[in-house]
Amino acid sequence: MLHHTPLIATIVAGLGLAFVLGAIANRLKISPLVGYLLAGIAVGPFTPGFVADQGLANELAEIGVILLMFGVGLHFSLNDLLSVRAIAIPGAIAQIAVATLLGMGLGWAMGWPPGAGFVFGLALSVASTVVLLRALQERRMVETERGRIAVGWLIVEDLAMVLALVLLPALAGLLGGSFDPAARPEDPLAARDVATTIAITLAKVTAFVVLMLVVGRRVIPWLLHYVAHTGSRELFRLAVLAVALGVAYGAAALFGVSFALGAFFAGMILSESPLSQRAAEESLPLRDAFAVLFFVSVGMLFDPRILLEDPLPLIGTVLIIIAGKSVAAFFIVRAFGYTQGTAFTISASLAQIGEFSFILAGLGVGLQILPEAGRSLILAGAILSILVNPFLFTALDHMKARAERAKAKLAAAEPAGHPIADEPEEAPALAPTALAGHAVIVGYGRVGSLVGEGLAAAGWPMLVIEERQPLIDQLRGDGREVLAGNAADASLLALAGLERARILFVAIPEAFEAGQIISRARAASAGLRIVARAHSDAEVEHLEGHGADLIIMGEREIARAMLEHALSGSNPAPSGPAEGPVSTAALQAAAEPPPPDPPPPEAPAADPSAGERPAVQPRPG
Ligand code: AMP
Repeated sequence: MLHHTPLIATIVAGLGLAFVLGAIANRLKISPLVGYLLAGIAVGPFTPGFVADQGLANELAEIGVILLMFGVGLHFSLNDLLSVRAIAIPGAIAQIAVATLLGMGLGWAMGWPPGAGFVFGLALSVASTVVLLRALQERRMVETERGRIAVGWLIVEDLAMVLALVLLPALAGLLGGSFDPAARPEDPLAARDVATTIAITLAKVTAFVVLMLVVGRRVIPWLLHYVAHTGSRELFRLAVLAVALGVAYGAAALFGVSFALGAFFAGMILSESPLSQRAAEESLPLRDAFAVLFFVSVGMLFDPRILLEDPLPLIGTVLIIIAGKSVAAFFIVRAFGYTQGTAFTISASLAQIGEFSFILAGLGVGLQILPEAGRSLILAGAILSILVNPFLFTALDHMKARAERAKAKLAAAEPAGHPIADEPEEAPALAPTALAGHAVIVGYGRVGSLVGEGLAAAGWPMLVIEERQPLIDQLRGDGREVLAGNAADASLLALAGLERARILFVAIPEAFEAGQIISRARAASAGLRIVARAHSDAEVEHLEGHGADLIIMGEREIARAMLEHALSGSNPAPSGPAEGPVSTAALQAAAEPPPPDPPPPEAPAADPSAGERPAVQPRPG
C-alpha cells in the first residue's frame, strides 16, 4: 500500500506531465515552456484531478533557480560583470522606475491607494531569472555581449529586489495607509529607521561578496581540485552540487542575499578555475530538470477564472509587462549607444515577470499593502508574459532575418569598402562569406583550433563558425574570418557559402547539434565533404545517418595513438608526455581526406611521414 508521499507525487506528476506536454509543444513547433506551464495548470488547484503540493513545487523550483544562476556564474568572470555595469546599473534602475510608475498608474485607475500601486508596479518591474536565462541559453547568447548585458541587468534587479524585500516591512506603515492597519502583523522593523535598514542590508550583501571574493575564491577552487584528483566522478559531481546549493543557502540564511545571487557568486568564483567547464557539465542535467519544475510551479498558481472575471485590469497588467517595460528598456539601451539588435534582445529578455514578483506580491498581501486582487493580477500577468515570451523572440528572429536579407542586398549593391549603416557590432557576424573553395570549421575549441592551425599553415582559405565570444574576438584579432553564433541556426549556416566550400569540419562535441548542422549542410550541398567528431559508436551512427562522410571517434583515436606509442618502439621513455601523438593523430586523420595536400597539424612538431599516417587512418562505423 502506498503511503503519503507528496514530494514524490509532485516531482513525478510535474516532470511526467511537463515531458508529455513539452513534447507535444515541440512537435507543434512552439516553445516547450508552453507545455511546462500547461502541465502546471493541469496539476494545479484550479483544475480538476490531481493537485500537486504547491509549497513543495515552489521549493523544487528554487533549486532550479540556484542551479541556473550557478551555471551562469560559471561562464561569467568578475570582469565580465564589471564590464557591463555602466549600462546595467542605470538601465535596471530606470526600468524599475518606469515599470513602477506604470503599475502605480494602473493601480490608481483601479482605485487602489498609491502604496498598493507602488508594490504592484515594483512586482511588475523585475524579470524572472529562469525565463531570461532559458531564452538566452536556447539562443546560445549567454556569453555574447547582449547576453552579458541582460545578465548584468538581471543581477542589478535582483539586488534591488533583495533591498525591496527587507525594506517593505519597514515601510509598511508609510505604504499601507488605507488597508486595515489593525490587521497588520507585528512588525519589528517598523520602528527602525529606514536608513539603518538599508545600511544593514547593504552591509550584509557587501560582507557576503567580500567573503566570497577573499575566502571563497581560494577555498572553493581548491576543494574542487582536491576532489577532482581523487578521480571519483561521483564525488566531483557531489562537490559541485554541494558548493552551488551550500553557498546559495548560506548566502540566504546568513546574509539575507537571495538564493539566486548566492549561487551566481559561487559559480563566478569557480569560473576562473580550469575545472569550471566540468562543473558546468556535471550540474547540467539536474539544472534542466529543476528549471522545468519552475515552470510547472508557476503554472500551478494560475487561476483561469481571472481571464473572465477581470479581463481589463489583466490586459493592462500584461501590457505593462510586455510593452511598457520593453519600450523603456529599448530606449535606455539605445540611449547608451548600443545597436538596435542589442536593444531588442534586452527588451525581449526582460518582457516577463516571475519568481521575485510572486515573493513581492506575497509579502505585499501579507503586510496588507497590496489587495488580494493585485496578487492574482501579478500571477496571471506572469503566466501570460512567460507564455508570450518565446513568441517575442521568434518575432525578433524574423526581424533579424529580414534585416539580414536587406543588408545582404545592400551589401551586394554597395561598392566594396562602404560600411553598412548603423550596426557596427553585428556587421562582421552577419555578412555572408565571399570565400570559395574554402574549409568551414564549426567549433574552434580543442579540436577545431588544431584543425584550423593546420589548415592555416597549409594556406587553405577558411571560415570558422564559433559561439564563444572570447574565442571569436581572438580569431578576428588574428585576422580570421568568423561567423559568430550557433552553427545549428539555419540562417547563420546559410552565410557560410557551403555550396562553394571544399570541406566542412564539424568539430563540436555535442552530437545532436552536430547532426542538425550536418543535415542542413548536406541539404545545402550534396557534394560537400563533411568530416565530423564523435565520442561513441552511437554518435558515429547518428552522424552517419545525417550525412557525414567521415566521422572521427575521439576515444578510438586516443586508444590507437596510445597503442601505437607502446608498440612502435620508437619511444624509449614510456613515462614521457603522450599528448603530442594523440592530437597529431586525430588531426591528421581529420585532415586526411580532401584532395589537396593534407595540412600538417601543429606545424613545426608534425612529421607527416609516410610511415606514420596509415597507423592513424580513421575508419568510422
Ligand atoms: P572543444 O570541445 O574544446 O573542441 O570545444 C568545442 C567548441 O565548439 C567550443 O569553442 C564551443 O564554443 C564551440 N561550439 C559548440 N557548439 C557550437 C555550435 N553549435 N555552433 C558554434 N560553435 C559551437
